[in-house]
Amino acid sequence: YDDRDGVIWMDGEMVDWREAKVHVLSHAMHYASSVFEGERAYNGKIFKSRAHSERLIASAEALDMPMPWSVDQIEAAKAEALEASGLRDAYVRAVVWRGSGEDMGVASARNPVRMAVAVWPWGAYYGDAKMQGARLDISEWKRPSPETIPVHAKAAGLYMICTISKHKAEAKGCSDALFMDYRGYVAEATGANIFFVKDGEVHTPLPDCFLNGITRQTVLQMLRDRGIKVHERHILPEEMSGFEQCWLTGTAAEVTPVGQIGDYRFEVGDLTRQIAGAYEDLVRA
Ligand code: PMP
Repeated sequence: YDDRDGVIWMDGEMVDWREAKVHVLSHAMHYASSVFEGERAYNGKIFKSRAHSERLIASAEALDMPMPWSVDQIEAAKAEALEASGLRDAYVRAVVWRGSGEDMGVASARNPVRMAVAVWPWGAYYGDAKMQGARLDISEWKRPSPETIPVHAKAAGLYMICTISKHKAEAKGCSDALFMDYRGYVAEATGANIFFVKDGEVHTPLPDCFLNGITRQTVLQMLRDRGIKVHERHILPEEMSGFEQCWLTGTAAEVTPVGQIGDYRFEVGDLTRQIAGAYEDLVRA
């Protein structure tokens, strides 16, 4: 991704894409002091942009990084980067990290907090699986307890087990991995939240130790607007044998049907199709 034409917004300036570099002694690279956002623009407008900017600031603050930019300034930066890309439909990646400076140890309060926004095209996150139903592996790693790490921050450090779980899943021919949490309840995929359907009602894990996705919240509202009963609760993995449909939600994933998780199978049913279609209509509205 580093060798392409274009510009990247970096600390208030537009920098040539190939020159948007950081020093190898950046604190973020050694100690995971990095938070980010994944956003999508549709028809030239970033969906729920403000919510993403607010979450970016909240994530930075959770890692004790004082944000040098306000929500309005982040909004302007993203708009500028999107405009410069010339794209109407695009993925927008904002990232905030501790740079290099006075400190090389774990404490880094004197190092600058930096920010960049890059925009590029990104199609269906799960490729062909999108409408046929993705296949998920069950990760051997667990989403950690809120007592061990700031679980609601969209922080790079929380993605370490996502990468290794997804590598293992892909090696088995799966599209992604599903995590249980530290108590053994169903949690989320490596970059998306999960929903199940049974007898016309929806069941989704309570986001008490993982990201309460912006897409998740949007889909919950869509379900409630349609009068569909939703149960946000702790879900045991064995319960998956009784669920009929399943889908993932996320900015990149949008609404992606799931056909199989481990040995549990699901149909790509009417409600799944209906919600996936309605989400597509909403983001383009
Ligand atoms: N969980 C994880 C771990 C994620 O990376 C994402 C993608 N940001 C989500 C859930 C879904 O969040 P959102 O709907 O806000 O994109």
